[in-house]
Amino acid sequence: MANIPPEEIAELHEDAIQRLGTKEANLIDTANRISQPLIELLVAYTTMGFREHLKKREREEAILQRSERELTIRNKIAKVFLTVPDDEMYGEVLTVVLEAMKSKHGLFGYIDENGDLTAHSMTRDVWDQCRIPDKKIVYPRQEWGGIWGRALTEKKTLFSNKPFKVPEGHLPISCALVVPVIHHGESIGTLEVANKATGYDDRDIQLLETIADRIAPILNARIERGEHEKARKQTEEILKQTVADLEHFAYVVSHDLQEPLRMIRSYMQLLSQRYKGKLDSDADDFIGFAVNGASRMQTLIQDLLTYSRIGTRGNPCEPSDCEDVLKEILANLKLTIEDSGAEVTHDPLPTIMADALQLIQLMQNLIDNAIKFRGEKPPHIHISAQQKENEWEVSVADSGIGIDPQSFDRIFKVFQRLHTKNEYPGTGIGLALCKKIVERHGGRIWVKSEPGRGSTFLFTIPAAEGDGLR
Ligand code: ADP
Repeated sequence: MANIPPEEIAELHEDAIQRLGTKEANLIDTANRISQPLIELLVAYTTMGFREHLKKREREEAILQRSERELTIRNKIAKVFLTVPDDEMYGEVLTVVLEAMKSKHGLFGYIDENGDLTAHSMTRDVWDQCRIPDKKIVYPRQEWGGIWGRALTEKKTLFSNKPFKVPEGHLPISCALVVPVIHHGESIGTLEVANKATGYDDRDIQLLETIADRIAPILNARIERGEHEKARKQTEEILKQTVADLEHFAYVVSHDLQEPLRMIRSYMQLLSQRYKGKLDSDADDFIGFAVNGASRMQTLIQDLLTYSRIGTRGNPCEPSDCEDVLKEILANLKLTIEDSGAEVTHDPLPTIMADALQLIQLMQNLIDNAIKFRGEKPPHIHISAQQKENEWEVSVADSGIGIDPQSFDRIFKVFQRLHTKNEYPGTGIGLALCKKIVERHGGRIWVKSEPGRGSTFLFTIPAAEGDGLR
């Protein structure tokens, strides 16, 4: 009860008590009126209470206004982070911050993967008006200095309302406030504002710190995403280069091997013609094996050469009518089709954007396989195409021996076969070639099959404008 009476009306209170005391301690006088000192005291108390109430409301309103303002700024910043691409984002955030901080100039930078401060976003006129030699936007850690360098290394807010000593040519700085953006205890960026007309006070500090706190997790996510993206691009580049090197290597090797191999084969054939039956029977067999081996090697090398040429020697995409492509394939495979008694049917086929020669190679390989792996009965092969969203899905279905699902991935790899060359001839490069062609066109290839129940090979080719069924 030490506060009663409150200090501001203590005198009035004392006076009232004194005056009441002199009036026989009656609160109501003989005319039934409330005694004057009591009225004065009551009025004083009521007024004081009312004033207190007003002050409290003012305080509450100020807090509310501040938090509404903070919320607006927060929303604006979140929106920029979410909607604006990287190269413009930092500048846009800075604009929101400067407006909120009523500051003319500023900087929003982040610590890059080397630990250096990168500040793509400075107020435009800082950059334009700055005349110091050697202007830069990346500040290596060992060169950090001044108020912002200290704020970053000491991880604390710093400000000054006194004009700064700046290098010659630098924009004059009358006052500045620097808040490090801290995430998990580490400085990941900095927010700097400068040249507010009235200088910076505690409320400015509190507001900029709140903004920096809000920015921290989003900035961190952005930086991490940027780093992942960069690492992914680097890996992709390395991979592309490796594939290109390998392709070149395969090309050179297979190309250069052809010549000596041709010589071995020719001389082996010569030996066989001239000396067959003149040496002992073992020698005849040995020469025969050598000729076969050389022939097989030649086929393998030629296949490898064809494979290595897909990426490097392809033609550009052009509208290719799949029905014309099929006609050409059927002409190429005329003998095989007749020998096997194969029946090839098709739905209406579209015109698609493709390297026509490679499209022939692709579909011919699939149809050739469908005939080769036919099993007992004469094969029936059906080709169809469907448009799915923004790509064409083409399928080649057969009635052949089928494939065990465990081998679905394997068969698309170079030289991978499920049968010996005595069961079915081949080098095992056909489907690898198909995969490479499809991927060069930006599509996918896969198979659906069950042993003994035929196979359906499907591939996609992105649909370009103007495509359509005839
Ligand atoms: P190759 O035909 O020279 O053996 P491919 O790369 O074209 O090489 O095919 C790889 C393997 O996939 C084949 O050896 C075969 O086992 C299997 N295969 C391919 N197409 C079919 C098909 N239509 N039906 C059954 N098996 C198939």
